Amino acid sequence: MSLLPDSVRVAVRGWLNCNQVLLRSPAGNVLVDSGYQSCADETLARLRDPAMLGAEPLAALVNTHCHSDHIGGNAAVARAYGCPITIPREEVPTIDDWSIQERWNHYVDQYAEPFAYQATIAAGEALRAAGREWEAHAAPGHDMEALVFFDPAERILISGDALWENGLGFVWAHEPPNPFVDAALSALDTIERLGPRVVIPGHGKPFADVAGALARARSRLAQFADDPRRTARHMMKVMFVFSMLHRGGIALSEADGYVARVPCYRDLDERFLGDGLEGLGVRLAEDLARAGAMRIDDGFARATMAR
Ligand SMILES: [Zn+2]
Repeated sequence: MSLLPDSVRVAVRGWLNCNQVLLRSPAGNVLVDSGYQSCADETLARLRDPAMLGAEPLAALVNTHCHSDHIGGNAAVARAYGCPITIPREEVPTIDDWSIQERWNHYVDQYAEPFAYQATIAAGEALRAAGREWEAHAAPGHDMEALVFFDPAERILISGDALWENGLGFVWAHEPPNPFVDAALSALDTIERLGPRVVIPGHGKPFADVAGALARARSRLAQFADDPRRTARHMMKVMFVFSMLHRGGIALSEADGYVARVPCYRDLDERFLGDGLEGLGVRLAEDLARAGAMRIDDGFARATMAR
């Protein structure tokens, strides 16, 4: 039996692109999150699939949070469908001043196309879509301004990166007490209180074992709460493999030079590790290869994860 009503459809993507959640209704189809910029054509093709929109129009695009893998396709979707875009109200400063996005994307080697939004939504408000009211709840942690959307009638939660089946979006390294870990834990408490029957995560398939996912996310956060070194190393790996997904990989001989050029690695090392950058790029690729997230063939490292 399907976990979701026919009016709620999900294009499950990978790690470079978040999932696209389509909320269908004769009153207007609403899309949640648009994927990564460089895959926008594929995102549009997935939307045109009869299992998603087919030839129907799109009335609105809403974002759970404003990271490049969730807003990167916003401009392309708005061009293709002429639909307005709604963003979390607390994200407004980071979009109105696009140089903040550019600085962040430069810091971690990511890209997003600028877009214009027409509306905002905040925690405590509701989104009308798929013939029901979705409550917006604050879900800080991975992104301090993020929202999740909850349908209390069928207890469906669109969780963004606040909760996945096996973990959650990375949280920033910080000396304990880590405010990002605390925020992420409070978001998990909110989700537990809502009591969803099914969760549609930003990455991975929709899942029903919510208690198991909450337990896994909490134990993951417990590992990071008191260990900024571990958190910083984890962040480096997440950023590295994400960039390799959009770059198509890197020659091992260039990995150290790459890491030296992208500011987040030096910054994380200086603040939390103090190991220096020498050999760091190769080490990251090899660690990720051991974990199965990358593969190294003939001196070339590429990400194995789904894009
Ligand atoms: Zn994401």
